[in-house]
Amino acid sequence: MTGVSLAIPPSALLLLGLQLALIIGLRYLLVSGAFALVAARRKPELFRPADPARRRRLRRQVRREILWSLLSVLVYAAPAALAFAAFEAGGTRVYLRLSEGPLWWWPVSVFLYLAIHDAWFYWTHRAMHHWPALFRAVHAVHHESRPPTAFAAMSFHPWEALSAAWLYPVLVFLVPIHWSALAVVAAIATFMAVTNHMGFELFPRAWVHGRFGRHIITASHHDLHHQRFNANYGLYFRFWDRWCRTDAGLRPDF
Ligand SMILES: [Zn+2]
Ligand SMILES: [Zn+2]
Repeated sequence: MTGVSLAIPPSALLLLGLQLALIIGLRYLLVSGAFALVAARRKPELFRPADPARRRRLRRQVRREILWSLLSVLVYAAPAALAFAAFEAGGTRVYLRLSEGPLWWWPVSVFLYLAIHDAWFYWTHRAMHHWPALFRAVHAVHHESRPPTAFAAMSFHPWEALSAAWLYPVLVFLVPIHWSALAVVAAIATFMAVTNHMGFELFPRAWVHGRFGRHIITASHHDLHHQRFNANYGLYFRFWDRWCRTDAGLRPDF
């Protein structure tokens, strides 16, 4: 890593960081914007509540969600730029040719990246809810969204964004992964962050209340976290919530 940071001048690193921030920011705006449109069509009352005071509050909330998210974009771009520079210098374990690893590793690496992120998120998230001072300083921003919208996907205080932003950029130095598997991990992370906050269930009811929903977190599960605060801390999977008895189930009305 030291050799890599010496190999790239700070100005080039800064430019790379800004380029990545632009990509992450556009991805956020496009995906959240698209799903917010879907939400507004499917459940018009989500974005146009009848009560004018609630409507004004919602407009302020969405503005706040977007501003915090764009700030998070900068926090996410910094470690991503370091990892990308290292990748270009051949210093990471990201590989370009499928033949460089066994084929079975491709799905395993996707699952492993998501599972490690999920475990990290569960325990840090639970800690933030456990200690009131930590909650106020780090996580309260995310919970200002009640109920959240698709724009809350990256609505974190910079401290909270920092607590997660380094994880994948460090994992690429430790766990081998094909670039396309990494792209799939990023796509799943984005899709779930947005859809779990969009205010209604995207998946068919039979899925959500069947085997899929028993293991995978969807809006019905995460929205309950935003409502109750003291349960459903997971990110992608329900394993940790189940094992640690913090699973409060699903919102029945979604
Ligand atoms: Zn949330
Ligand atoms: Zn929380």
